[in-house]
Amino acid sequence: QTNESQDSRLRARAARVIPGGMWGHQRAEALPKGYPQFFASGKGARVTDVDGREYIDFMCAWGPIILGHQHEGVEAAAAAQASAGNCLNGPTEHAVILAERLVDTVAHADWALLQKNGSDAMTTCITTARAATGRRKILIAKGAYHGAVPWCSPSLVGVTSEDRAHLLHFTFNDVDSLVAAVADAGDDLAAIVVSAFRHDLGIPQELPTEAFAHAVRKHCDDSGAVMVLDDVRAGFRLNMAGSWEGTGVRPDLTAFSKAIANGHALSAVTGSEWLRDAANSVFVTGSFWYAGAQMAAGVATLDELVRIDGPALMARAGHRLRNGLDEQAARHGFALNQSGPVAMPLVQFAGDDPKASLGEAFCGEALRRGVYLHHRHNMFLSTAHTDAEIDCALEATEDAFAALARNRPKDQGDAA
Ligand code: PMP
Repeated sequence: QTNESQDSRLRARAARVIPGGMWGHQRAEALPKGYPQFFASGKGARVTDVDGREYIDFMCAWGPIILGHQHEGVEAAAAAQASAGNCLNGPTEHAVILAERLVDTVAHADWALLQKNGSDAMTTCITTARAATGRRKILIAKGAYHGAVPWCSPSLVGVTSEDRAHLLHFTFNDVDSLVAAVADAGDDLAAIVVSAFRHDLGIPQELPTEAFAHAVRKHCDDSGAVMVLDDVRAGFRLNMAGSWEGTGVRPDLTAFSKAIANGHALSAVTGSEWLRDAANSVFVTGSFWYAGAQMAAGVATLDELVRIDGPALMARAGHRLRNGLDEQAARHGFALNQSGPVAMPLVQFAGDDPKASLGEAFCGEALRRGVYLHHRHNMFLSTAHTDAEIDCALEATEDAFAALARNRPKDQGDAA
């Protein structure tokens, strides 16, 4: 028996049997030093790693957790269906109930398809748009993340130019660049794809401007192209009716996933009436797309979010966190740039380098004090982030700022 941590033992074993030791966005390698790779449990706003260290969690599994970890009502609904049978020869009644809930809740929705992952839902939006229009070109914002499949992966490794042949780019919130991309597409424009807001890694987040939102809608209407909203990351955190409701613009297709079933694997495409036949015409399926437990979890999650007005609770928690961090930073001589919706905050240090070294050091200090933050990716709040949990986190970040100020390089002048 050594005093090596369970996390490092698991990492060593993983390195032998998993390429690179871990795949994808939850690789601890991309996080500040000291972050655990492996977790054992979660409850409410807290997660516990395999070495028994507990953290107030501001990543929420990178989005899926919206009512807190192990929400009792959701887990009971999922467990009831799981114990009766999860994968059967067809879906359970929860598929119909969930589609009805989505049609009732999401403003533009007349129908819904249910799947597993956000990439599934986004890909279905693209194929449906092409089927509906008989055209090929898809406009997406430069730097926007839409999934980990060849047509949209942020990495070109293993991807052919043919996979990307019909993608054209614009800059989010830049109407001129949108107009230019629409012109490039000519009479072959199938869809314009937008995110809930600009949430590219490592740069300040931007909410859609009204001018941009209306331009997207207008160019789709003028050309007969499909407006696709990628609400995979933000869906049901900001507005139960859809994240663009506040802009006065409604999409034709929306992809949801992440938070829709509070941690159970589920995604959905919702669509407007005119795309019903196109959605029926494309071939979409998956071995696990009919499983009942996650759909039961989805119904329970949406019902609870509506009942408690989840978006309002998360906004309240987000404001409390944002104001608290700003006040602490200023007192310790730092200036923060906090951007995006308060329930999905990106916290950056003004003047930090592109690698976010100061942010990384701050997150490391916070982690040692039991708060799990991210320095470059937007974070996620849940309805389990009560005032008491936010205040508890702020006690730790107060000490983290103090430690950061103590260790601050001499040549870095006070920002305040
Ligand atoms: N779109 C957006 C905006 C996302 O944030 C993500 C996941 N991070 C996806 C699509 C892809 O979802 P998934 O990882 O479930 O395939």
